[in-house]
Amino acid sequence: MTETATPEQRADVLAGLEAVRAGIRRAAEDSERDPRGVHLIAVSKTVPAEGILPALEAGQRLFGENYVQEARAKWPALRERFPDAELHLIGPLQSNKAREAVALFDVIHSLDRLSLAAALAKEIARTGRTPKLLIQVNTGEEPQKGGIPPGQVDVLLAECRDTHGLAINGLMCIPPADDPPSAHFALLARIAERHNLPILSMGMSADYPAAIQMGATHVRVGTAIFGARPRP
Ligand SMILES: *Cc1c(COP(=O)(O)O)cnc(C)c1O
Repeated sequence: MTETATPEQRADVLAGLEAVRAGIRRAAEDSERDPRGVHLIAVSKTVPAEGILPALEAGQRLFGENYVQEARAKWPALRERFPDAELHLIGPLQSNKAREAVALFDVIHSLDRLSLAAALAKEIARTGRTPKLLIQVNTGEEPQKGGIPPGQVDVLLAECRDTHGLAINGLMCIPPADDPPSAHFALLARIAERHNLPILSMGMSADYPAAIQMGATHVRVGTAIFGARPRP
């Protein structure tokens, strides 16, 4: 990619962003929710800085990244220009990257084990930075996927609070690719409600309207804004 987006690339990002914003409004209105209660996280993993700029210039402020390293390479310069951009880590986090993650991200969606809670708590205490923390729930109990099984959320929540003094702000899930997602979204919403957790991070390009119907407060949308990603 070139240093700046071509007019076509810029137009594509703006059209994608507008379409998703309209989709969010429609889904919220369909379920009689206030659209302002649904926050769009534009997932910019693999998108170079020049591809992200048109979204920032169009007023988008919440962005999701999967990899600490990639985010660190792209975002400090973008944030100099857009200091109110809010960065969300939505990919798996290794404990040895907790320091960089706490330094860089405003919200971490992928807390799923006590050892990671310990590493995050240590960095939060050391730096005074307090990113919001979400527990990732593996609603489909898929072995290859991050997240804690639904039956263990209560224990992890209690341990985060009691052992590490960590406030947990919400839950995140990624439903299995082949399942209808709504049952997974409903399960996540039930667990969050039981614990009075305000943030529900669920819904991606293919299923964000269903997630909004089930109560999502944050949808994570990449492809529908930035186009298809290169296959790994
Ligand atoms: C990549 C990714 C997304 C965005 O997926 P799209 O299908 O491109 O919208 C959302 N959430 C997570 C956790 C992701 O890894």
